[in-house]
Amino acid sequence: MKTYVIAGVHGDEVFGLKIIGAIDRSSNQNITTVVGHAEAIAKKRRFIESDLNRSFELKSHTIESRIAKSISDNLRNNLHDYIIDIHTSRSNVKSVAIVAKLNDTTIYLAHMLETDAIVIMPPQLTSTSLIGCQPEKSISLEYGAGQRSDKLAIKTAEVIMSLGDIQEIKHDLPIYAVISRIPKDYEGLSGIKNLEYDVTLNGYPFLAGVDTYPDFGGFLAKKLNKNTSDNNIVYNGE
Ligand SMILES: [Zn+2]
Repeated sequence: MKTYVIAGVHGDEVFGLKIIGAIDRSSNQNITTVVGHAEAIAKKRRFIESDLNRSFELKSHTIESRIAKSISDNLRNNLHDYIIDIHTSRSNVKSVAIVAKLNDTTIYLAHMLETDAIVIMPPQLTSTSLIGCQPEKSISLEYGAGQRSDKLAIKTAEVIMSLGDIQEIKHDLPIYAVISRIPKDYEGLSGIKNLEYDVTLNGYPFLAGVDTYPDFGGFLAKKLNKNTSDNNIVYNGE
């Protein structure tokens, strides 16, 4: 299997570099490792001109839209079975798989990588993000606050190197779908519990907190019922 692993798409999220470093040290021929945004990493900034993970397929001329174009060209020209994009968050999630498409491949990846949950992002957000380039085989791994250890990085690298053929997985991962954003001025942000039902918001906060995003408080998701087909997801947000 050919796997593409990218870290540091956001320059202030360097944990993934440990994972790709561990993969590189093993000289595995089947894995392509990529540093997403070297300049932003060097400057310890999330981005320089525009958020790289919102710059795919955009006709703008920022540094990030140029990087996004070279990443998506690379993905198009070199076929991979799996695409893994590693992020970190200051929110109190442990590890979550973010997907644009829920299918056997993305569920297999989320399960193998020992995530706690799968969160589906709406097309409005993924159309300009990395996982939106080839949604049927891509996941973003989002590691929450405190999930930065060398041990976790080495373990994750080992799992990535051991990925095999897709198997239909019997899993009990909870699955959520993002339905809106939580405003930055929402009073409950401090101490908010991610992926736990919030009565006031009538939904499940995701990547929410006082300092998780500069311009909004985080996302709000609903929990999907695996046993029904009635999982209409409508996204009401920017
Ligand atoms: Zn990120």
